[in-house]
Amino acid sequence: MDNNCIFCKIVRGEIPSAKIYEDDKTLAFLDIVPVNIGHALVIPKEHFKDIHEVPEDLVGHMMKIVKKVSSALRTSLPCDGVNVNMNNEGAAGQVVFHAHIHVIPRHAGDGFELWHGKRKYQENEMQKVSRKVSLAIA
Ligand code: 5GP
Ligand code: ZN
Repeated sequence: MDNNCIFCKIVRGEIPSAKIYEDDKTLAFLDIVPVNIGHALVIPKEHFKDIHEVPEDLVGHMMKIVKKVSSALRTSLPCDGVNVNMNNEGAAGQVVFHAHIHVIPRHAGDGFELWHGKRKYQENEMQKVSRKVSLAIA
């Protein structure tokens, strides 16, 4: 637990939230500034900064809950599609430093733009990059 963390305060019930799911390890609630109505956040109840700090089993469990939430958004709200997104660290746009996964209902013409890749690999760069990353995984 982190005394100053806004999501820890939500877990402890010190500030209100619109909860949609809860179990012993995770909590899902509505984002206060939604991209679309129903935009939800899935968080671990324990304080971890980002995906790199969350234990592997717990990330797996969070993804199960993301799927439950996603399916529920799909059937209960105007929702033709869902974006699942996680911002990790400031450079990636993380603002609240308690790990969380966004589950965002989408509908055609909602005007929410995704990023589109524009960069190009130089010759052999893709192979070099994949080798570097795969070595780091091994
Ligand atoms: P991030 O950029 O860190 O991935 O997103 C943090 C999200 O948390 C934002 O979409 C923001 O609207 C949401 N948020 C921040 N403070 C609160 C809060 O007090 N309650 C709720 N429900 N959502 C919050
Ligand atoms: Zn926290």
